[in-house]
Amino acid sequence: MNEHYPFINPPLPYSYDSMEPYIDTKTMELHHDRHLQTYVDNLNQLLKENPAYQGFSLEQLVLYACSMPDGLRTPIRNNAGGVYNHLLYFSTLQGNGPQQPSGALGSLLQKQYGSYNAFQQRFTEAALSVFGSGYAWLVQKPDGSLDITRTANQNTPLSFQTRPLICIDVWEHAYYLKHYNKRADYIKDWFAVADWEQAGKNFLS
Ligand code: MN
Repeated sequence: MNEHYPFINPPLPYSYDSMEPYIDTKTMELHHDRHLQTYVDNLNQLLKENPAYQGFSLEQLVLYACSMPDGLRTPIRNNAGGVYNHLLYFSTLQGNGPQQPSGALGSLLQKQYGSYNAFQQRFTEAALSVFGSGYAWLVQKPDGSLDITRTANQNTPLSFQTRPLICIDVWEHAYYLKHYNKRADYIKDWFAVADWEQAGKNFLS
């Protein structure tokens, strides 16, 4: 990923069929090559027209969108958020078989939620209760503790000291071809491909 404009859509670090049978090949291809690509293209077009922000990193664009001028604030939030959220989503999937959180992240998760099963229930409830399109996230708060949050559309929970660790995209384009309208089935399948090793690297212990 380029640090600044012009942003690129990096190839997935695995093949489109890597998440079978949990997330189907066609969904992975369309999701990365069309949906994410559109956010990258739209963001680049916005920055082409607003060169003052061409030196901003993706995280800076997300963080400073709220203080940008009217007319730029919302499209930057949607498109920089769309790029940021999808990059995190794709980077925290793996197709090598179900994992469980381990290491420092695993210990804290166990301490806060009681067990991985209990955490999965809480996270599932959060992901199911996103009304319309959005994401559920596991984040690390400024005090170091974990939290489960939800965002609508392409909003992100990123703030100056809150670190997103892993997220599930619950827009219908993330699951409709295989799971139709059954978001609960997709969430269950997502747990089988969640990359807890990467989430652990995103976690600052
Ligand atoms: Mn998506």
